[in-house]
Amino acid sequence: MKICPKCNQQYDDDNLNFCLSDGEMLMETQDADATPTVYMDAPRVTNQNWEPQPDPMVQQQNPQDQQIFQQPFSAPQNYPKVVSQDKTLPTVSLVLGILSLVLMCCYLGVPLGAGAAITGFIGMSRVNSDPSTFGGKELAIIGMVLGGISFVLSILLIIGGVLSSIFD
Ligand SMILES: [Zn+2]
Repeated sequence: MKICPKCNQQYDDDNLNFCLSDGEMLMETQDADATPTVYMDAPRVTNQNWEPQPDPMVQQQNPQDQQIFQQPFSAPQNYPKVVSQDKTLPTVSLVLGILSLVLMCCYLGVPLGAGAAITGFIGMSRVNSDPSTFGGKELAIIGMVLGGISFVLSILLIIGGVLSSIFD
């Protein structure tokens, strides 16, 4: 069956392509109705299957995802213990200690020396608490000593400079 979209006249002859009264192109009513219902029903069936699933699936997947995420987080923590030791802080302390001695003349020995002493102390305490994870205790001690020396000397230089300026 075909129908004219302009005058809504229906034609039973499927061979007709144009309306006999106004010449409008006819639309196939049966096929037009049939195809949308097929397309409309197909997604509805799948949607009805999907809708009841998400609620239990989400509740089930979330704890699974959390477990999956927790496992990779714990795994990398185990790798450094086996592969290599963390010598970051001792290295930083050594570099700061050397810089504090070199730049002592510019009064930078105070902050650099303090930083070297602090990072060296923390690095050394980390090595003592967990030697398997942290290393570079020698570097930390050297950095801490160098930083301490430059820190004290810088303080003495500053005090001496202040005293000399007062007496002058
Ligand atoms: Zn018509």
